Amino acid sequence: MAYNKPLPNTKGVSEIYWKGLKEKKFLIPHCNECNEMFFYPRVVCPHCGGTNIEFQDHNGKGEIYSYSIVEKSFIQGFEKEVPYTVALVQLEGGKARMMTNIIECEPEKVEIGMPVEIHFQDVTDEIALPHFKPMKGGR
Ligand SMILES: [Zn+2]
Repeated sequence: MAYNKPLPNTKGVSEIYWKGLKEKKFLIPHCNECNEMFFYPRVVCPHCGGTNIEFQDHNGKGEIYSYSIVEKSFIQGFEKEVPYTVALVQLEGGKARMMTNIIECEPEKVEIGMPVEIHFQDVTDEIALPHFKPMKGGR
């Protein structure tokens, strides 16, 4: 069945990020001025205001910083998937956090601090989405 949910805009400053996901690479913006990573992709570092930014390959590991369980959704394509978990994942090795879905885990088993790792989900010929799942064997 064709993917029927809203799709991201993959052009502009985040184009490298989206192309990376399609190749199963997790490319996160890194500031060469303060040596810190951040998310989402943008042209100015949110930590220091620097503009010397490059994308670096991240290991795709992190832990759940916060989460919410969606019990009812009116967003196209999500109505029949409830309940599901929307989480803020703290990425390993820096200050970057990203909003994502937690998959392969019952929502009631999700916990703050739970180690998670990326899962690349191909949704169209051009787009893969980054979801996270519990890390096998913990840390
Ligand atoms: Zn910076």
